Amino acid sequence: MTAPLRSTLRIAIAGAGMAGMATALSLAQKGFELVDIYETASNLGFVGAGIQVAPNLSRVLQSLGVWHNIKDDAVEVKETSIRGTSVSTLSEMA
Ligand SMILES: Cc1cc2nc3c(=O)[nH]c(=O)nc-3n(C[C@H](O)[C@H](O)[C@H](O)COP(=O)(O)OP(=O)(O)OC[C@H]3O[C@@H](n4cnc5c(N)ncnc54)[C@H](O)[C@@H]3O)c2cc1C
Repeated sequence: MTAPLRSTLRIAIAGAGMAGMATALSLAQKGFELVDIYETASNLGFVGAGIQVAPNLSRVLQSLGVWHNIKDDAVEVKETSIRGTSVSTLSEMA
């Protein structure tokens, strides 16, 4: 009798970014037991001032069952604007 694939298949994920972590969590939730994440960065930490979570990302996090943990720490943005001193058109850049 062979062991179930989800208990024996070894899965390697390269990169502990959002894609790698979401993939690992999805596989674990599907019952895959041998999932290893490899990361080249020597330490994991924050980059920048924060993360803006777009609606499509919050839906993915919700489907993975982790959105409520993040939502408690989140601030709801009422409006945004992008400002700059000059805007070049493609024809100006050519
Ligand atoms: C300054 C900045 C601000 C941003 N702000 C936002 C934001 O507010 N909201 C938002 O939704 N998105 C934001 N983004 C975009 C967001 O960071 C990316 O879309 C997201 O990180 C992509 O996730 P990823 O897992 O595909 O790649 P990454 O986050 O780049 O993760 C890839 C990981 O793989 C590792 N890696 C690479 N090669 C190997 C290897 N050979 N072996 C092992 N590990 C490896 C890398 O070290 C890295 O940790 C921002 C990006 C930047 C640069």
